[in-house]
Amino acid sequence: MLIYNYPLFRPPAEASNIIIQVTYGCSYNNCSFCSMYKSKSYKPKELKDIFQDIDTLSSYYPNSTKIFLADGDALALDTSYLLKILKYLQKSFKKLRRVSLYGSAQNILSKTKDELDMLQQHKLMLVYYGIETGSDIVLNKITKGVSQDEIITSLNMLSNSNIKISSTVILGIGGKNYSTEHIKQTANIINNTTVNYLSTLQLGLEDNVIDKFYRYFDDFIPLSDTEILDEQKLFIELLNPINKIIFRSNHASNALHLAGNIPKDKDKLVLEIEDALKIANDTFVPEVSEGF
Ligand code: SF4
Repeated sequence: MLIYNYPLFRPPAEASNIIIQVTYGCSYNNCSFCSMYKSKSYKPKELKDIFQDIDTLSSYYPNSTKIFLADGDALALDTSYLLKILKYLQKSFKKLRRVSLYGSAQNILSKTKDELDMLQQHKLMLVYYGIETGSDIVLNKITKGVSQDEIITSLNMLSNSNIKISSTVILGIGGKNYSTEHIKQTANIINNTTVNYLSTLQLGLEDNVIDKFYRYFDDFIPLSDTEILDEQKLFIELLNPINKIIFRSNHASNALHLAGNIPKDKDKLVLEIEDALKIANDTFVPEVSEGF
């Protein structure tokens, strides 16, 4: 019997992999747009309970090669604690190739290069990282608790330790007033780091965060689906990464699903967005006032 504490979230790409909960909630839990862990207080899960879950899962799936560690930011755990978990995983799953987890700038910046190297050597191969935006103005308004410089530094720390990065950016999070600023500054992060995977999501606010969101972002004006596509187009146009990035925009929240490699497929992706914009504009029905 697994000791899961719900709700339990995992990245879409981990759907067919084993999930082991090693923390409850998110150690920060303060981003104004995020409702994921509002029902939980952060705490590390007891090591004996984690080991018990590993024993159970390894007895059913001994040949598993990929494991995801939940919850919101398992990288918040002390390195020594995380190493005990990684060592136990390696002992229990003989074919283990990759362990992944969610991590934030705050988690990464609190670790040394030696610690990150050690985690990588014990199979921490991939960190899912929510960039959301590169704009310091917007980061402040969404109470993300980090700056663009800290995001760039933390992403580069992961790459320097050979830990891969799967990052997400939220379209529409700057609203109308900061749309261009949001996209330009976010592209600046991607162009100054070496993220391996990049996805764009579309902002959606759950009822239980709306009050807080607008309290800190009082000049927020939501974008229409067409304006979101304009953001998507500008974002891709501005991307000139140092490395090859696998790009996806296939989250359920997205108005248009896209997939390709950047920079190779940039022109193709931009054309797909232009086609979608053309269809959206052609089908636009103007409001008509009632006459006599
Ligand atoms: S760090 Fe991630 S999980 Fe935690 S509050 Fe922010 S967006 Fe939500």
